[in-house]
Amino acid sequence: MTANTALETASARLGGLSYLNPAAPEPWASFVEQIERVRPYLGSLERWIETLKRPKRTLIVDVPIERDDGTVAHFEGYRVQHSLSRGPGKGGIRFHPDVTLNEVMALAGWMTIKNAAVGLPFGGAKGGIRVDPSSVSKGELQRITRRFTSEIGVIIGPDRDIPAPDVGTNAMTMAVMMDTFSMNRGSTATGVVTGKPIALGGSLGRHEATGRGVYITAREAGRHIGLPIEGARVVVQGFGNVGGIGARLFHEAGARVIAIADHSATLVNEAGIDIPAALEHVAANGGLAGFAGAAQLDIEEFWQLECEFLVPAALEGQISAERAAGIRAKVVVEGANGPTTPAADDILRERGVLVVPDVLANAGGVTVSYFEWVQDFSSFFWTEDEINTRLERIMTGAFNAIWKVAEEKGVPLRTAAFIIACLRVLEARAERGLYP
Ligand code: NAD
Repeated sequence: MTANTALETASARLGGLSYLNPAAPEPWASFVEQIERVRPYLGSLERWIETLKRPKRTLIVDVPIERDDGTVAHFEGYRVQHSLSRGPGKGGIRFHPDVTLNEVMALAGWMTIKNAAVGLPFGGAKGGIRVDPSSVSKGELQRITRRFTSEIGVIIGPDRDIPAPDVGTNAMTMAVMMDTFSMNRGSTATGVVTGKPIALGGSLGRHEATGRGVYITAREAGRHIGLPIEGARVVVQGFGNVGGIGARLFHEAGARVIAIADHSATLVNEAGIDIPAALEHVAANGGLAGFAGAAQLDIEEFWQLECEFLVPAALEGQISAERAAGIRAKVVVEGANGPTTPAADDILRERGVLVVPDVLANAGGVTVSYFEWVQDFSSFFWTEDEINTRLERIMTGAFNAIWKVAEEKGVPLRTAAFIIACLRVLEARAERGLYP
C-alpha cells in the first residue's frame, strides 16, 4: 500500500478527507460554511474567526470489548472539544453505525454556537462511537460504554467537559458513564454527565426539555408571523426523544400532527395522528412500523406534504437542496442538529419558508442540562415547575434576541443566531488572549 492509499483509507474511515479541510464532505463543511457566512458581521473580532474553524481538541479512541461469545471486538470512539473559550465543554454522546469524526466535529461546533446563542456558560463538545446499539447485547453495550468513558476520562469532568445523551444513548447510558467516571476517580461525581436518571442527580424536566424547546420556539415563530399552533398541521421526522415529545406537545396544544416518520416507517393521516397511541406503539415495539393509526407514505412525498410546521428531528443532512425545492411548510423547526444543508437553507429562504435553526430550536435540552449541572454542584434540586418556567424564560428570551438581530440586519434566523454566538465566543477568545 502506498503512503497515499494508506492516507486515503485512513481518511475514508474518518468520514472523509477531512480533518481541517473545508472541502470535506458534510456536515463539517456545512458548519464551516455557516461560520463563513457571519464573517462580515464580526467587526474587529474577525481576526479570531479561524479559531471557530478548527476544533480545539480531538480525541480518537479504540474501544475494545470481550463479546459474549468470547471474541474481542473493537469500536472507534471520539470526543471533540470544539471550543472551551466560554466554559467547560458540553455536548452529547452518539451511538450510531454511521458516526464519523467529521460528523462529531460538526456536532461539537454546533454545540459551541448553541450554548453561546442561548447564553449558557459552556463551550461546545460532542462525542460518539461507531456502533449499532441494537447489534450488541445489553452486557456488551455496557462494556462499550464503560471502556469508552474510561478512554475519554482524560479530558472529561464536571469542570472540564460534560457529556449528555444524543442519538442512540439515554439516561441509562449516562448512569453507566457517571458510575465509570466516579469509580476511576474514587468518589461520586454526579456533575460529570447530564441527562442522568433522577435518582443519580438527574433533573426533573430534562427528558422532555428538547422537545419542549422545539415546541416553544415553534410557538414563538408562529406568534411573530401570525400562525397559531391550534389547528396547525405538523409533520415530524424522527419519533424519538426530540420528535416524539415535540409531536406530543404540538398535539396537546391542539395542532394536527398529520405525518410522522422514523427509521422503520413513514406514516400519514390527514385527519391527525393519535400521538399518545403512536408513542405507546413505539414504546412497545421499538419503532413506528406496524402502527395502525396512519397509512404508509413514500419518504419523498413526506417532505412535500403541505403543512404549517415541519420538524426534522432525526439526523443531519435530511433537507437537501432537492428536498427543499419541494417543501410546502410555512415554518421549518429544526429539532435535529444540522438537518438542513446550506444550499437547502438558501432555497427555503428564497421560497419564503421560515427556518428556526437547530442552534435555537433544540437548545432546550442543553439548557435543562445546564440546570442539572447547577443543581448537582449545589446538591439542591428544583421542582419541575421551576425548571419549565426557567426553560420557557431562556428559550423565549433567546428567540426574541435572535429575531431582533435578524430583523435589524436583514438576515435569516440562523445567521442571526450565529452572529450573536460567534461574537460571544470570539469576545471571550479575545479577552483571554493567546497562550503563551
Ligand atoms: P433518538 O435516538 O431518541 O431518536 C432518533 C429518532 O430518529 C428515532 O425515532 C429514529 O427512529 C429516527 N431515525 C433514525 N434514523 C432515521 C432515518 N434514516 N429516517 C427517519 N428517522 C430516523 O434521538 P434524539 O435524542 O431524539 O435526537 C434526534 C436529533 O435531535 C439528533 O439530531 C440529535 O442530535 C438532536 N438533539 C437531541 C437532543 C436531546 O436532548 N436528545 C438535544 C438536541 C438535539
